[in-house]
Amino acid sequence: MNARNPKNIPGIGMTSQRTRVRMVERLREKGIRDERVLAAMGAVPRHVFVEEALASRAYEDTALPIGFSQTISQPYVVARMIEALMAERPRKLGKVLEVGTGCGYQAAVLAQLAQEVYSIERIRGLLERARANLLGLKLSNLRLAHGDGNEGLAKAAPFDSIIVAAAAIEVPEGLLRQLAMGGRMILPLKSPSAGRDAQRLSLIERSARGFAETELDPVRFVPLEMGKE
Ligand code: SAH
Repeated sequence: MNARNPKNIPGIGMTSQRTRVRMVERLREKGIRDERVLAAMGAVPRHVFVEEALASRAYEDTALPIGFSQTISQPYVVARMIEALMAERPRKLGKVLEVGTGCGYQAAVLAQLAQEVYSIERIRGLLERARANLLGLKLSNLRLAHGDGNEGLAKAAPFDSIIVAAAAIEVPEGLLRQLAMGGRMILPLKSPSAGRDAQRLSLIERSARGFAETELDPVRFVPLEMGKE
């Protein structure tokens, strides 16, 4: 075990491989069908990404606090968003940008499935925490960056897939610009007309004819903020 990451990755009891297998079974029951996504969800030890005191709840299908007033996303929502990016054809994720690294969990799932993953986080303290969480997993195709995800990540653009883990009122222009032709982006959007807290997942596809948007499930994410800290 790495000295800087004393958490036990294999896990025992409530953090064991068996508990993770049960989480995957529940995802299947809730409607996740893509075997590639289910396998990736089964491969990443979620307990490594939450505080010791919450480790026994790591495989429940709920969001949990990760400090800095942020949360680790619900497993179903992580699986649902990635499945939507990969749906039909069957599509590969290619080069991915994740906005909102948080504790690094979803980035680790994406790294199982994509060629290359870039993940950007605006809170430096959280990014450092994510780096420590990810250390033991040795994911050589994952790069973390500190910055405002509204601007995307120009040095690595364009991206075949973009996934945003925080809710905006409208799709950030900078992200649309950095989406490759034939690329897909998924993000939660606030719909103020449907009530103060209402959010929906939106899937955006870029083709030669422009951008096409499809509305998916109602969700609940922390807000996409401006700037970095
Ligand atoms: N991907 C995480 C979820 C993190 S919650 C997981 O796997 O569980 C959403 C994250 O988005 C928070 O860490 C928050 O700080 C970050 N965030 C919010 N606005 C942002 C912005 N403009 N740029 C980058 N990160 C942002």
